[in-house]
Amino acid sequence: VSTQQPRVVLVYQRTTLPWVFESAERAGIRLILVPRPDETVAADRLPPAVADVLALDIDGDRAGALATLRQVHEATPFQGICTLYDPAVPFVAEAAELLGLPGIGRDAALGAQDKRVMRERLAAAGLNVPRFVGLKDPSAWEEAAHLDFPVVVKPAHGFSSLGVTKAERPDELKAVVEEVWQICRGKLGEARGLIVEEYLDGPEFAVESLAHRGEVTVCGIGYKGAPEGPYFEESVYRAPAVLPEPVRDAIRHEVTAAHAALGIADGPTHTELRLRGDRPYLLELGARIGGSGVSEYIVRNVTGRDFAADALRIAAGLPPRSFEAGHQPAATGAAANYIVPCGGSGRITAIHGLDELRADPRVDHIVQMLFPGDVVRPYPDFTGYPAFILSRHATTAEAEEFHRALETAIRIEYAPEGGR
Ligand code: ADP
Ligand code: CA
Ligand code: CA
Ligand code: CA
Repeated sequence: VSTQQPRVVLVYQRTTLPWVFESAERAGIRLILVPRPDETVAADRLPPAVADVLALDIDGDRAGALATLRQVHEATPFQGICTLYDPAVPFVAEAAELLGLPGIGRDAALGAQDKRVMRERLAAAGLNVPRFVGLKDPSAWEEAAHLDFPVVVKPAHGFSSLGVTKAERPDELKAVVEEVWQICRGKLGEARGLIVEEYLDGPEFAVESLAHRGEVTVCGIGYKGAPEGPYFEESVYRAPAVLPEPVRDAIRHEVTAAHAALGIADGPTHTELRLRGDRPYLLELGARIGGSGVSEYIVRNVTGRDFAADALRIAAGLPPRSFEAGHQPAATGAAANYIVPCGGSGRITAIHGLDELRADPRVDHIVQMLFPGDVVRPYPDFTGYPAFILSRHATTAEAEEFHRALETAIRIEYAPEGGR
């Protein structure tokens, strides 16, 4: 028995989102935390699993960040590196490749991040893909005018639905493309191309999977609502999704094939898809744990599988425990995330309904991100989500009922922007 606990670098994870830190602790994995540049971590209030903190400026000085990682690795080797933050996936893949650590590789990271490359690779593998056009810049908008409308315009390298906008008719396309481009420049810091694709109606689902040496296990399928746009803010996540077994099979098949098409052989993934009839169409596959760790909460509480612990073990080059023969995850019930909608804009003066929920036995976590005094800007200039409410229920139907009650129980009051 090795007395050495594996050490894994965890890039850009907020300490206010506890699930992955708790999994690391349970799995006996020591974390070297690279904090988000905008988060100040107090040394005396770190999660117990964090052994070290390492500041890296990945966006500002990528080469310097890689050099620092190499120095740290040479002084005290670590066994892996990972992130739950989608924009950092390519950096992590590159660092792992450079240091000879487990990872998906730079090329797979490109396919998991650039939506145009992803669409091309999925289509080449014969998977279900809406018709799409990649645009270098807004002046090329007419190249997408022949698609069937409505269409969805999005940044090629976007995340968190930033800038994702529906255009109902061809005569709106030019303006929507221009608007999305401006959001890319403002919010993503740069504009690196757009994708326009045909709108997929139908309900949305999230699929959490673990890959190990090319073997893909779908660990959970959850319902994500049926947002119709024109903007696509996150709303709910309820698992397990209530679906007939043949449809679950079709989803597992499509998601597994997508891993092969994108060359993602190791690690956790978070896939989003829409169902048209019985046919799953991938929206995207992220090579990371979803929802900044919310997916760990969901999978563990629905299936008993310690999803993030296994993801961290794979990052460290260890086999996932839940893949071992004889491993029997205990089915536990339903789990859900309710993402409180902004429901307006301006300066927040009060958020009603959260305090009452803290005493609700169904609620495990309330992660509050916006507070009175914060300014919410109107869509599409997206500020962030006010709060996540993570809960457990006997059935998915009960989770749905709970969410319906939250729609009226939680209310945010605003003063006009600039007011008090
Ligand atoms: P991001 O990387 O910003 O999350 P996504 O491609 O996942 O971008 O799009 C965000 C959301 O926009 C999706 O979850 C979905 O609700 C909606 N969406 C994106 N593309 C389409 C599409 N082709 N048809 C219907 N809805 C879409
Ligand atoms: Ca994404
Ligand atoms: Ca997405
Ligand atoms: Ca989404």
